[in-house]
Amino acid sequence: MNNNLDIISKSIWLPKDEPTYFFGPCSAESPEQLYETAKGIARNFKNVIFRAGVWKPRTRPNSFEGLGEESLNWLRDIKNEFGFKIATEVANAEHVEKALEAEIDILWIGARTTVNPFYVQTIAESLRGVDSTVFVKNPLHPDISLWVGALERLNNVGIKKLGAIHRGFHLSDNGPFRNSPNWALAVQLKTAFPNLPLICDVSHISGTPDLIPLVSQRAIDLDMDGLMVETHYNPKVALSDAEQQLTPDDLANYIKKLIWKKNESSNLDFRSKLELLREEIDKIDDELVDQLANRMNLAKQIGAYKKENNVTVLQLDRWLKILQKSVNQGNSMGLSEEFVTQLYNVIHDESIRIQTLIQKSKNEKV
Ligand code: PEP
Ligand code: MN
Repeated sequence: MNNNLDIISKSIWLPKDEPTYFFGPCSAESPEQLYETAKGIARNFKNVIFRAGVWKPRTRPNSFEGLGEESLNWLRDIKNEFGFKIATEVANAEHVEKALEAEIDILWIGARTTVNPFYVQTIAESLRGVDSTVFVKNPLHPDISLWVGALERLNNVGIKKLGAIHRGFHLSDNGPFRNSPNWALAVQLKTAFPNLPLICDVSHISGTPDLIPLVSQRAIDLDMDGLMVETHYNPKVALSDAEQQLTPDDLANYIKKLIWKKNESSNLDFRSKLELLREEIDKIDDELVDQLANRMNLAKQIGAYKKENNVTVLQLDRWLKILQKSVNQGNSMGLSEEFVTQLYNVIHDESIRIQTLIQKSKNEKV
C-alpha cells in the first residue's frame, strides 16, 4: 500500500501512556440523558472523549434519527461541565459547519458514509483549511482502499490529525458478531500507516454487552490505540442501539479488567530471550525467501517446457495434489488448513503469473 499520508504522528497528539477512550451514548437524546451518562463516566474516568450521535444514519426510516442541531448545544454543555473532549458523526457539509460552530472537538465519518467517495469528498471540501481532528470508520464492506481513500481525501484538504476506527464489517454471515471484525485488515492498515491512531469500536462489532470484553482484549493485544464503547445511563430506554450499550458502572468494571500491554519491555531477561528467538526466526526467514526463489526458478523452467510442448499453464490435478499434500503435512505439524491453503494459493498464483508471462513471450530462454 502506498503510504503517503502527511499526518501528525499519534505520539504527539494522543494521550501519553494511556489508551484513547471514546465513551458515550449512541445518540444524544436529551440534556438529562447526556448529563447522567457523562456524570456516570466521570466517576471513573477523566481524560476521555465523550461521543454522541446527533445525526443518526438509520437503515430504515421512522427510526430515531437524532435531534440534530439543538443537541449540539447540549454536547457543548457536557464539555464545559465535565472537561471531556466531544465527538460526533458528520455525514455532509452542513453537519460539519454546525458541528464546528458548536465547537465539537472531534468529528467522525460513519461506516455508511466512508463507502461513498462523493460524500467523503464533500465533507473534506467543507473542512479545507480547518484545523480539525477527524476519525474515519471503516466502510461497511472490507475494502481497505475505500477506507484509506477517505483518509487521503481528508488529508488532501489539510487535515493532519487523522485517525481510523475499526467498527467491523457487514458480511452475509457475521457469526456471533453484529459486524464481523477483520483483524488482519486492521493490522494491514496499522502496518501501512504506523503513525495513524487506530481505535476499535467494540460496541458496533459486538452488538451485545457479552462480547465486548473479549473483543476489547483482542484489539488491545493487536496494539490498537484505544476503544469506542457506547455508554448510556439507562440502556433499556435508549432510542438507538439499546441492546449494545453499557451503563457507566458496567463500563468501568469491564475496563478495569482489561490488560493493556506495552509494545516493548525493559526486562533484560525477557529481551535477551526474545532476541535469541528472533535470531532463529531471521535465519528461517532467510531460508524461506531463498527456497521460494528456488521454487519460482523451477516453475520458470517448467513454464518453458510447457510452452514448447503446447501444454496449459494450469495443471489442475497436479495443483490439487500439491495442495492436499501440503495441507496434510501442515496438519501433522500443527499448522491450520486455512493457513497452509492461503500460503499455497499465493505461491501457486505467483507460479501461474510467471508461467503465463513465459507463454506470452516470444522465445523464452531459461
Ligand atoms: C455510531 O457510532 O453510532 C454509528 C452509527 O456507527 P457506524 O457508522 O459504525 O455504524
Ligand atoms: Mn450506535
